[in-house]
Amino acid sequence: MELTVLNNDAGAEAGGCSSSGCGSSGDQLSHLPDDIREKVHNHPCYSEEAHHHYARMHVAVAPACNIQCHYCNRKYDCANESRPGVVSELLSPDQAVRKVLAVAANIPQMTVLGIAGPGDPLANPERTFETFRQLTEKAPDIKLCVSTNGLALPAQVEELCKHNIDHVTITINTVDPEIGAKIYPWVFWNNRRIKGVKGAKILIEQQQKGLEMLTERGILVKVNSVMIPGVNDKHLEEVSKVVKEKGAFLHNVMPLIAEAEHGTFYGVMGQRGPTHDELQDLQDKCSGDMNMMRHCRQCRADAVGLLGEDRGDEFTMDKIEEMEIDYEAAMVKRKEIHLEIEANRKAQAAKSGEAFVALASLGTKKKELRPVLMAVATTGGGLINQHFGHASEFLIYEASPTDVRFISHRKVDLYCSGGDTCGDAETALQKNIRTLEGCEVVLCSKIGYEPWDMLEEAGIQPNGEHAMEPIEDAIAAVYKEMADAGQLDKPRQTAEAAQATA
Ligand code: SF4
Repeated sequence: MELTVLNNDAGAEAGGCSSSGCGSSGDQLSHLPDDIREKVHNHPCYSEEAHHHYARMHVAVAPACNIQCHYCNRKYDCANESRPGVVSELLSPDQAVRKVLAVAANIPQMTVLGIAGPGDPLANPERTFETFRQLTEKAPDIKLCVSTNGLALPAQVEELCKHNIDHVTITINTVDPEIGAKIYPWVFWNNRRIKGVKGAKILIEQQQKGLEMLTERGILVKVNSVMIPGVNDKHLEEVSKVVKEKGAFLHNVMPLIAEAEHGTFYGVMGQRGPTHDELQDLQDKCSGDMNMMRHCRQCRADAVGLLGEDRGDEFTMDKIEEMEIDYEAAMVKRKEIHLEIEANRKAQAAKSGEAFVALASLGTKKKELRPVLMAVATTGGGLINQHFGHASEFLIYEASPTDVRFISHRKVDLYCSGGDTCGDAETALQKNIRTLEGCEVVLCSKIGYEPWDMLEEAGIQPNGEHAMEPIEDAIAAVYKEMADAGQLDKPRQTAEAAQATA
């Protein structure tokens, strides 16, 4: 079966708007066959728009790995998919299944289960497939995903096809063995450790073969690539082209996170990760060739909840043992809630076209207006519904005369959790404001006087007027207000100039 690949023109066909709220996430999918659209529609990792509404969870059942990445320390989760430097609770397949049923019964928005590290799931096939086998039988309403470095993939494709798995993520950092040797010191192949270029060549061949085999069988493939400045950053555009040609559906370029305290080769050697701008620039370049994922949070391997949140503490094994789980009843409730979510999404999509009338009304002035970055505090649902001080991350959007585009997310520290943290409040707040560098507006449901003043001093305009409104509508409206006020005809006012006029 031939898999259609999303391309950059999809947004243009949809009226030039690539935002989720104006419905283009839906429109981007509209050219796909129904069965594939259905697979992506409520998958929080595969659909940018769905990630506002549906939750995912990961279970860590696979301890071993068959390759070594220079950004990985096996003491922690697999950094190909998860946040480096984090240790997840390793579960047996039976424990993992019980946990999945408990979470799905209590968080009905949870639609996706991913098997993640700390090692490679396909290097631990018995544990991985036993988990999938039980879940396929006991929880047929949950989508199953797996993420792999690809070395063992071709050998496991037939087994993957027997389960309820319709999405696979392969981490492909290079298609060039010379570059590969700088990322992978060795691979374990045919019972031998093979080093350098030779090992990297085997890994690349297996990844490419596995990708082709999956797409031939109609399984959606997302490709993750870790951007390593000076190693593969210039080469990732080529990777994007190659994996698109072979049928990958989505490309997720993630920043290298390398800290000396993680004890990885790159961390210890001082290899830096990319800046926000470098990452965005590369994502923009690659998006000329394929659909890019920009909402990845590099979650923990045992993450639970909406992307950006982690409710894992509510579902530790000791708590789960105490829970009564009637999954038959839970499936009925889950179905009702999914119908409700879909009705809300439909209503939001129908309304959101109105917001873009605001942009259309900019008329002939359009050409001279510069784009603006805005940060949004949200707890999900596609709405501006979070207090500035309660946000642990902000979603970053770019508004332009024709478009509202999701760019990335930026994590911040909670600065007003009360108690012992109060003495550090100013420092944490200042750091958070620095994290929002480049943004001109922050949209949130509420904000205190102190952060309001500090944001203004930093040249960032706080805005609480659009509380509970759909994100893209609010951004389009604020952009229009800025345009009407003449703020977008000239370059951005610096923080120093803002202070001088305050
Ligand atoms: S790690 Fe990335 S792909 Fe996996 S759930 Fe998080 S956002 Fe989705």
